[in-house]
Amino acid sequence: MSCNDQIASVPVPACRLCGSGGAMLYERLTDLTYGAPGEWNLRRCRNPACGLVWLDPAPSEEEIHKAYRVYYTHPGYSEGEKRIDRLNYLLLKGCKPLQKLFLRASGIRRFEKEWRSRADDLFLDGLPPGGKLLDVGCGKGDFLVRMRRKGWKVEGTEVDSEAVEQARVKNGLTVHTGTLESAGFPTDSFDAVTMNHVIEHVHDPVSVLRACLRLLKPSGRLVTVTPNLDGVGHERFGRNWRGLEPPRHLHLFTRRTLKECAVRAGLRSIETWCLPGYADAILQSSMDIEKRATGKKRGEFSRWVEVSLLKVREYNRYNNKENVGEEVVMTARKDSEGGLSG
Ligand SMILES: [Zn+2]
Repeated sequence: MSCNDQIASVPVPACRLCGSGGAMLYERLTDLTYGAPGEWNLRRCRNPACGLVWLDPAPSEEEIHKAYRVYYTHPGYSEGEKRIDRLNYLLLKGCKPLQKLFLRASGIRRFEKEWRSRADDLFLDGLPPGGKLLDVGCGKGDFLVRMRRKGWKVEGTEVDSEAVEQARVKNGLTVHTGTLESAGFPTDSFDAVTMNHVIEHVHDPVSVLRACLRLLKPSGRLVTVTPNLDGVGHERFGRNWRGLEPPRHLHLFTRRTLKECAVRAGLRSIETWCLPGYADAILQSSMDIEKRATGKKRGEFSRWVEVSLLKVREYNRYNNKENVGEEVVMTARKDSEGGLSG
């Protein structure tokens, strides 16, 4: 790899939320998902009342685009094919229907379906359609297309010009290339602003939330979804958990730290909850990362069994009111009336 392929990075010695130093959480992480260059560390804030996790060093604002050379939003991106031997194929074929029966009988399937349908609309259910919606970091714009079909007037912002091109040409969307701050939207212009798996990618989460606050109409709603450090996946896979995604995820959150960011940004009526709805996709990807990290061969069937058991554990603990679920959701408003129960 030539020198130009390296990503210039900056040290991040202190917590952005409280200014405390950070204890080393993981050292020398590499990008086992999209193969960006470099070695990265994650630190956890030493202040027990805080606990924010951040990347140190972090790619500089000028060069972070190099971390996205390969990314799922680009045309032609493919995860490659998985080869399964005959024995594993037959075991999976025999057991998947049993799993389906179990998930149905235990109520997990119904629960998962309900959560997924709300999550797919980014929890805008309950708001009258017809309003103006801005999706920050909209990628190719699949979510905006879905909401346009439901009657919303939609717009997006996206820093990745390849994704913007797809959103415009393929989906006919109005998408501004660049950051939210650079798009120049007038104050009080949107009924809803959404950020799905975006806040973990930005250098200054509080200032991005503040920019969202400015754009919301007085009764407007902000919705943010991000990976949950307190989930079963991080507990099981540790440094190989999919949610870490070095060096693109610059901060990692829990319900508490995400809420703290919103408080500091000046948002009101803040609600947070955990989301187990898409646990299996994240658990399965973590399993793939673990395989690349350790190089250990493991049959598809045994991997599937473990992912299935982890998912059941995540649902059970979620139902016991623990803060597990592979994602955290936060909704907030500009004024302090109303709210949304999860
Ligand atoms: Zn802190």
